[in-house]
This record gives sequence, C-alpha cells and structure tokens, in this order.
Amino acid sequence: MKIIKSPEEMQRIALDLKRSGKTIGFVPTMGFLHEGHLSLMRVARSQCDVLVVSIFVNPTQFGPNEDLDAYPRDFERDEQLCESELADIVFYPESGNMFAGDASVWVDEDALSGVLCGESRPGHFRGVCTVVAKLFNLVQPDLAVFGEKDAQQLRIIERMVRDLNFPVQIIRGPIIREADGLAMSSRNKYLTAEQRKNALCLRKALDLASERMAKGERRVSNLRKSMVDLIDAVPEAEVDYIEFADDGTLEPLKNISGRTLVALAVKFGATRLIDNAVLIP
Ligand code: AMP
Repeated sequence: MKIIKSPEEMQRIALDLKRSGKTIGFVPTMGFLHEGHLSLMRVARSQCDVLVVSIFVNPTQFGPNEDLDAYPRDFERDEQLCESELADIVFYPESGNMFAGDASVWVDEDALSGVLCGESRPGHFRGVCTVVAKLFNLVQPDLAVFGEKDAQQLRIIERMVRDLNFPVQIIRGPIIREADGLAMSSRNKYLTAEQRKNALCLRKALDLASERMAKGERRVSNLRKSMVDLIDAVPEAEVDYIEFADDGTLEPLKNISGRTLVALAVKFGATRLIDNAVLIP
C-alpha cells in the first residue's frame, strides 16, 4: 500500500494506471475511520483493480464556528485499517497543497443544497462539491462509493456528476450502525458516556416515524411532532432540524405519498449528529 501526499503525484499515478487499463475505485473520507468507512472500501474493493482511499479533513466544508480544529485525527490507525481492507493507495494531502491561497473557482449546487444540512451549515455543500470535484480530477476514479449516512451529500454528488459529466459511477453504501442503533460517525467520539446513551434518540425517532407511517399516518406535521416530542424528552438533546423531503428533489413534503427521505440533525452540547431513513409508503 502506497501513501501519497502530493496531489500532482496522485494525479500522475492515476493517469498512468488508467493508461495501462486499470479501473480505479475511490472512497473519499475525512479519516478517523470506522466500520462505516470500511464498509464502503469493501464495496469498492470488489469492483475495481486499484482501490484509492483519501483522508482529508476538508477545511472548505467547515463553517467559521464549526469543529475543523477539533475534528478527530489518527493517521497511523487509519493507515492500518486501509491496509487491512486491501487498499492500494491512501491519498493523504495537506490542506495547503490542495487549495491555492487565492483559489477562486467553486462548484456550487443550487437545487438540493439549500435545505436540511445546507440550511444549518451555509457554504458546507459548496466546500463538499468543490473538494470532491478536485479529488475526482486527482484520483480519476471509475467508481466512487459514498455512504447513505450523509444522504443529502450523496444526492448532491450524484447531481454534480450528472450535471458536470464526470465519468464516475457513484455507488451508495448503506448506513452502518453500532449494535444499539447509533449510526457510526467520527464525531461520536466527542460524546460523553451520558450523551452517547442519549444519542440513541435519533434512531428511535426515525423508527417511530416509520412505525406510525406503517400504521397509516401520512401527515408530516403529525409524524414530525411525535419525533420532536421524543427527542425533546431526552436530556441535552436539541433538535437542529427534522425534515421530510421528496427523496429525489429534497423538496419539503406535507404528506407522504412516495419515497420520502426523513432526515434529522440533533445537537448534544457542541456535538451535532445526523441520521436519516427512507420511508416507502
Ligand atoms: P466522513 O469521513 O464522515 O466525511 O465520511 C466519508 C464517507 O463515509 C462518506 O461517504 C460518508 O457518508 C460515509 N460514512 C460515514 N459514516 C458512515 C456510516 N455510519 N455508514 C456508512 N457510511 C458512512
């Protein structure tokens, strides 16, 4: 397994691999890897000749008051995990080498990015789209795997690939959870023992919505209220958003009639967790 830090070297090697007829599978991450990331690597590994994993905490997707500096990092451990998943290349660039000081070109998606996390985190998806576009140019992947955990991000990347004609197949990887149901996240590390227990309310609220829908409830206001009530009863939990959106357009819904993305963000102190489910009536 090779560790590549230079963006230019990454691109040169990727172009050489392509010229020699190899297919490249890609899993972009911000590191501090867990089973969710590893599951994406396994999906990619089985469908390509060369597996590239990137580890880059992208500064442009963090807001000024967010956790960029505190974001957990452990490159040695990440390296071992990538090796155990049979990655061929770990791309581990430094921020200063990824963005020119006077970088002035951005990729902005403007239909799906204004709601949910895009509303709570202005500029976030501009940072995500720009860095993913750059990573695609550097890694030259035939396929890239993204997790359903970040449902809005996944849909925005699919839209970017469609609208800008990136020659990359995007594959969706299912949400990987801890045994008790909490969606795995690098940010779970921030939680105190008490908050970790209380964080189960995200999954419980999603389950409640899907149970009530299965019993016939279709009004979003009713479903949403029961989720808010459940979370409001949990110590320290503060709802950032709970939204029901059309799974294709992410437009907010009043009633459920087709595939619906129910997505939520809940804060525990300074830690913001997200989760989601797709409801199919
Ligand atoms: P991150 O390192 O958090 O930026 O995530 C990198 C990739 O891993 C993204 O495609 C995420 O959606 C995906 N991912 C993160 N957590 C999970 C999870 N629990 N299950 C599946 N995929 C995940």
